[in-house]
Formats: sequence, C-alpha cells, structure tokens
Amino acid sequence: VEAERSPVIRPINKGVVHRICAGQVILDLSSAVKELVENSLDAGSTSIEIALKEYGMDSFQVIDNGSGISPQNFKVLALKHHTSKLLDFPDLQLLTTFGFRGEALSSLCALGEVTVETRTLDEVVATHLTYDHKGIMTAERKTARQVGTTITVKKLFSNLPVRSKEFRRNIRKEYAKLISLLNAYALIAKGVRIVCTNTTGKNVRSVVLKTQGNGSLKENIITVFGSSTFSCLEPLTLSMSDGRMVEGFVSKPGYGSGRNIGDRQFFFVNGRPVDMPKVGKLVNELYRGANSKQYPIAIMNFSVPTRAYDVNVTPDKRKIFFSDESSILQSLRESLEKIYSSDEASYSVNKVD
Ligand code: ADP
Ligand code: MG
Repeated sequence: VEAERSPVIRPINKGVVHRICAGQVILDLSSAVKELVENSLDAGSTSIEIALKEYGMDSFQVIDNGSGISPQNFKVLALKHHTSKLLDFPDLQLLTTFGFRGEALSSLCALGEVTVETRTLDEVVATHLTYDHKGIMTAERKTARQVGTTITVKKLFSNLPVRSKEFRRNIRKEYAKLISLLNAYALIAKGVRIVCTNTTGKNVRSVVLKTQGNGSLKENIITVFGSSTFSCLEPLTLSMSDGRMVEGFVSKPGYGSGRNIGDRQFFFVNGRPVDMPKVGKLVNELYRGANSKQYPIAIMNFSVPTRAYDVNVTPDKRKIFFSDESSILQSLRESLEKIYSSDEASYSVNKVD
C-alpha cells in the first residue's frame, strides 16, 4: 500500500489563534466582567458601576472614577500582553495588582465589540475610543466625562457560535454566577462603592446590587447580606507564627444558611477572590459535625506574603498555588474545631428550626 502523504504543518491564522486564546481568559460573562472590575480596582477607583443590558447578553459596561487612561496609551491599550503593571518576571512575585498579563482587554476585543471612554486628571475633556477584534484602535473622538474610565463590551461571544449559544441558553446560571462574583468584590473591597444594574425590555432598569463603600469586612457583610445574617456569624481569626493570617466569619453552629453547597462561601487571598476547594471542603466537613441540615456561610481572607503563593496558574487567575498549604489547612482545622466542637455547638443545633 502506498503511504499517505504527510500533511504540511502550517501556522494557524493569527486572528484565529487570538480568538482561541482569548476564549481561555474570558470563559463566560462573569470572567469578562471580573476583568473589567479588577481593572477599575487597580486604577484606584472608589466607585464602580456595572451596567448590564439583558443580563449582559446585549452589552455590559463598567464605569469607574479611577485614574483614567492617558492619551499616550490609547493605541496600545488593547494589544495583547501590553500592561502598565508588570514589566519583568521578578516583578511577578511582588505583585499587588489584580492584573499583570495585559490580556483582558485584548481578549475582550477578540470576543466582542469594545469601546472605551476615559479621562485623566490632566485632561479637560474625555476621549471615546473604538477597537477592532485585533485590539487595534480604529476611531477616536472627544466626549464629555468625569475623570475615570467606562469600558463597554457589546455582543460578547458573537463570533464563537457554540459559546454564544451556550451563553444565551445558560443565561440564568451565568447571571447568578456574576452576581455571586460581584458579591465577592463587594465583601472584600474597602471604601469602594459598587453598584450593579440590569436593563431589560423597554428600558426597565433594576438595581441588583448596591454597596456604600464601607471600611470593614463586617460592614460589607451587613450591606451585602443584611444584619440578621451577620448576627448568625462567628468571627474567625488565625495568626500563624510565620506571619500568615486568616480573618473572616463563619456560620455559628446552629445557624447555617444555604441549602446549596458553597452558596455563600467566599475565599480571598490578599483581597483577591479565588477558588479554594480544599478550604471549602474542610469548613463543610467540620460544620457537618455540628449541623447536618445546612451549609455554613464562610467568608475568609488569607493574608500571606506575595512570595508564598502563585496566582498565575490558570488564565482566569481563580486558582492559586500556596506554598505550604497543608500547614495553613491544619491551623484552620484547629480554629474551626474550636468553634464547631464545643458543647455550646451541639446545644445550638437543637435550636435550628
Ligand atoms: P492588565 O490588567 O493585566 O494590565 P488589561 O488588558 O486588563 O491588562 O488592561 C491593560 C491596561 O489598560 C492596564 O494595564 C491599564 O493600564 C489600562 N486599563 C484598563 N482598564 C483601566 C481602567 N478602568 N482604568 C485605568 N486604566 C485601565
Ligand atoms: Mg486587567
């Protein structure tokens, strides 16, 4: 038999590569909005408004009062791997900003229609900018705006047919995930007012989240979940000998909340919302000993030196690698056991209705 001819290896068209990679950074509605909100926080904003049209399916907009973007950056703003935050690899270990890879805006351009309105303190007027799918600036005009930045993304995923269909089909889930994510920022951000609105049908605008920009985790919990929920929480503080710290709140033994696992569980590392499945599992497991009917609320911020973890593990930066994770988990277990295995704990269980 004649051997098949070996096919020619060729580079994929650059635009296609960009779209493929962009789809890994921007997985869904909430990861798209997350990137914009993090940019606003990185820009020092004290007010961030998220405005959705049709739950984000038509468009979403993040409006902030941060530093703004200076004209010298307009052209490179949405180019891949262009950032004002990270210059060299060693800097990666000292990072305190949410962003550092210069991928978000470029990815959003690849997957939707992006426009930017921005003004710094040095400018007397704002500028309205339009970018194409490659992140290249295609139009620039003057407009009126306060100092700060508004980024608008229309028609997310319209050029990825499968994901676009899934996005619309799962919109309730996507929207719920987004609100939960915004709750995470509203809980942890200190002194930042966060408002989220959704406009549907014929201009029916509803406020879905509104915080005041308070100063403490406690005040933020009260704003997001209400004071009666807060009164069912037990503070948790844990300091380790090497300077690592955990601060937060967990449900008192008899007063869990959600019926769904992880419903109201929020974990942060140095103020960055992250997924911590092992911590979640530990809290749920210990709580079960005290209350088998409910899941606990858990809100915990891990303060660790920037050297001791790596956020650059997955494109969405939700997963992290901790050095010496097991010792943190062990200390956390001991603290939680104190809360959940006391006599008082089993007493409180009886009061669950
Ligand atoms: P990264 O956040 O990793 O730097 P992004 O693509 O998210 O990459 O943003 C690129 C750059 O655009 C940022 O480094 C920042 O300089 C600028 N930028 C984006 N959003 C804002 C904003 N809301 N306010 C001020 N500057 C912004
Ligand atoms: Mg960013």
